[in-house]
Amino acid sequence: MITFPIYLDNHATTPVDPQVLDAMLPFFREKYGNPSSRNHTFGWVAEEAVENARRQVAQLINAEPREIIFTSGATESDNLALKGAALARRDRGRHIISVATEHKAVLETCDSLRDQGFDITLAPVGRDGLLDCDLLGRSIRPETILISVMAANNEIGVLQPLTEIGRIARKRGILFHTDAAQAAGRIQIDVESMSIDLLSLSAHKMYGPKGVGALYVRRNPPVQLARLLDGGGQERGLRSGTLNVPGIVGLGKACEVARSLMDDEANRLTLFRDRMKARLLSELNDVFLNGHPNARLPGNLNLAFSYVEGETLLMGLRDVALSSGSACTTASADPSHVLKAIGLSSAMAASSIRFGLGRFTTEEEVEWVTQKVIDVVQQLRAVSPLYQMITAGAMPVPDAWKYPF
Ligand SMILES: *Cc1c(COP(=O)(O)O)cnc(C)c1O
Repeated sequence: MITFPIYLDNHATTPVDPQVLDAMLPFFREKYGNPSSRNHTFGWVAEEAVENARRQVAQLINAEPREIIFTSGATESDNLALKGAALARRDRGRHIISVATEHKAVLETCDSLRDQGFDITLAPVGRDGLLDCDLLGRSIRPETILISVMAANNEIGVLQPLTEIGRIARKRGILFHTDAAQAAGRIQIDVESMSIDLLSLSAHKMYGPKGVGALYVRRNPPVQLARLLDGGGQERGLRSGTLNVPGIVGLGKACEVARSLMDDEANRLTLFRDRMKARLLSELNDVFLNGHPNARLPGNLNLAFSYVEGETLLMGLRDVALSSGSACTTASADPSHVLKAIGLSSAMAASSIRFGLGRFTTEEEVEWVTQKVIDVVQQLRAVSPLYQMITAGAMPVPDAWKYPF
């Protein structure tokens, strides 16, 4: 039995896993101590829980517990990584390299650093969404201090070649930060084999609570960061403020659960996703895959549906929670900067839909949505004079609806 609406927006956020919620509840009730309280058992219990969570987070990415700094989420982690590293290294150089398809948490932080006198290069990506490592190598200058490349894209799910990027950065003595908000808990991430110096992650993207995340900061060799918050000196002085103990416990548990389920979950979601993709591409004409076919997150499918308006399509799919290729649903919505970066026209970007499958997505739900998309697209095209004329050969395909191969 299917309950509606069906949730297929697991890149925006994920539901809290019941195991995670159970682990958190005692820390809202009787275990309410402040981990900085050194003189009584309330404090000791909270501190032990926080240190346990630190181990769980570290294990997920092959780090050491002391390399984990708890934050309020990936946005804060990205800010601390980029601003913290830029300010700490400003005497060595002021050039930073990132990528056009990054999350706003990185792009806007880069803008703010540019205002503070840093020079930012945003590397382009190919039609498949992948960063070209030769091009990355050529953008490096003697004054480059930091390279920030996301692990997995939140719209098209594309996985960047972290191992190769890490190797390039390490060889040139440049710090390597990755925003792994979408990747952590979904695919294997190893800060050692990938030569990662700084890594951002977020609990609510991996079946944990909102408002908590972590920044991995390499200790060997030690990465120096300037702090953004002054205060009580928690988290090695890098992030002052009383720790969000229930949230941190939830993040830790979410990491532990994700680690144990990762392989099975990835296999199941890949199967569902590939079945959905195969049916939509074979039963509908003029549907295109956005992003690389294989180098992508297991549960991610992003398709452009030519000749249908994105908003109308989502209206027809209102029993399903989905995201389209425009930032919001108003008439003035900007087309997604990610879809533009892989060469899509504004029309194509607006008629693109992101399907984000997750841990609690069932086979029945995927099949129901697949059939519904086929029905709605066929209905919309049946009443579109433009589509009728083009398929009848009475009119050439307008540039706006050409897919950029
Ligand atoms: C969700 C997301 C963020 C922001 O994370 P918050 O924890 O919500 O601040 C940053 N980067 C990527 C890639 C994301 O998907």
